[in-house]
Amino acid sequence: MTTHPIAPSPAAERAAALDAADPLARFHDRFVQHPDVVSYLDGNSLGRPLAATRDRLSRLLDEAWAGRLIRSWDEAWMDEPTHLGDMIGRVAIGAAPGQTVVADSTSVLLYKLVRAALDARPGRGEIVADTENFPTDRFILEGIAAETGRSIRWIEPDPAAGVTVDDVRAAAGPGTALVLLSHVAFKSGYIADMAAITAVAHEAGALVLWDLCHSVGSIDVRLDEAGADLAVGCTYKYLNGGPGSPAFAYVAERLHGAVRQPIQGWLGTADPFAMTEAYAPSPGIRQLISGTPPIVGMQPMQDMLALIEEAGDPDGGESGIAAIRRKSLALTDFVIDYADEHLACFGVRVISPRDPAVRGSHVTLEHPDFQRLTAELWERGVIPDFRPPQGMRIGLSPLSTSFAEVALGLDLLAELLERGTAAADA
Ligand SMILES: *Cc1c(COP(=O)(O)O)cnc(C)c1O
Repeated sequence: MTTHPIAPSPAAERAAALDAADPLARFHDRFVQHPDVVSYLDGNSLGRPLAATRDRLSRLLDEAWAGRLIRSWDEAWMDEPTHLGDMIGRVAIGAAPGQTVVADSTSVLLYKLVRAALDARPGRGEIVADTENFPTDRFILEGIAAETGRSIRWIEPDPAAGVTVDDVRAAAGPGTALVLLSHVAFKSGYIADMAAITAVAHEAGALVLWDLCHSVGSIDVRLDEAGADLAVGCTYKYLNGGPGSPAFAYVAERLHGAVRQPIQGWLGTADPFAMTEAYAPSPGIRQLISGTPPIVGMQPMQDMLALIEEAGDPDGGESGIAAIRRKSLALTDFVIDYADEHLACFGVRVISPRDPAVRGSHVTLEHPDFQRLTAELWERGVIPDFRPPQGMRIGLSPLSTSFAEVALGLDLLAELLERGTAAADA
């Protein structure tokens, strides 16, 4: 690789000092490093693998699978979806045990929970959602609206920010069954005010379903404290579960028994091996399960959850996720400062919130050439992602991203922009 400049850039020097002072820097080398990857800036889309996951996967194959075979269902696997759910609850989303389960994809869990929420609010014909939400969230809702004869009231938030409490207050009313929102907006990175929005929706008598895909593992989410009803989230982003790892769903305990999911399968029943004639849903969170859990896909995230926990103060002062949030803000500050100092002169604009209180763990920059430049960066081992029409997302996964690699990636971006400007001037 010849991407290192001859002399360290000012940004690289600042990055080296930040890495040296970073208490979480020691975790960087726990992730599998690959010589082709110079700077990974997309941990918000697919987290890097941990070296520990190799051992975990071969243990699964050699011991639990090859040795214990079908006995492993009784010995461990049957409870894995709820054990893992409790771990996610404890480590990352502020949920007491018994309310979180791992199953299916985010899209399928969204379907199950939206349908369950609508059935729990009979006589209410409207769903509140926003036009800036991730496509699958909008598509699932549109499908359910058509299927059940509900209508959707669309909030159109400022694309550089996100849905506000006032937006929800104006949209939700006596006809609202459900409000579906992302906690962190996938484009701008804006953090919605979970507690205040949930309270406003409850005043209207509606339930709220939070999509945590871009917050779980990077932000100190407090579902129980916020009075949340329902939530879903990905595990292959900041929880490093690997491509296609299953998602999780949260249902607040007070709603157990009051919501019933629509895909009633044998493994969501109270006693699957009774092989009963009629479906009797499990009284707890298990009910969300439909079929056989994807045990293989549930392995890698366990190493990341353990790492998040390890990142905390061993004396119990600060949780791992709080320490991660602190580094996330230092990383996004670094990117915004860099953009102001070295990229604004080429016409690059920062789209993400400048206020750290409402900024998630990625920074979106905009420039008309970003589609082409993202492809050039990928060829050189610098990997952000592109979101149309002209957004480049710089995703910062605090335990695997060093300030040095961020500086390296941004220096290359600045170099490509400068070359483009020079070519245009020639
Ligand atoms: C990544 C993401 C998804 C992905 O859903 P899948 O079913 O896992 O493909 C859904 N919603 C949001 C907000 C996301 O960021």
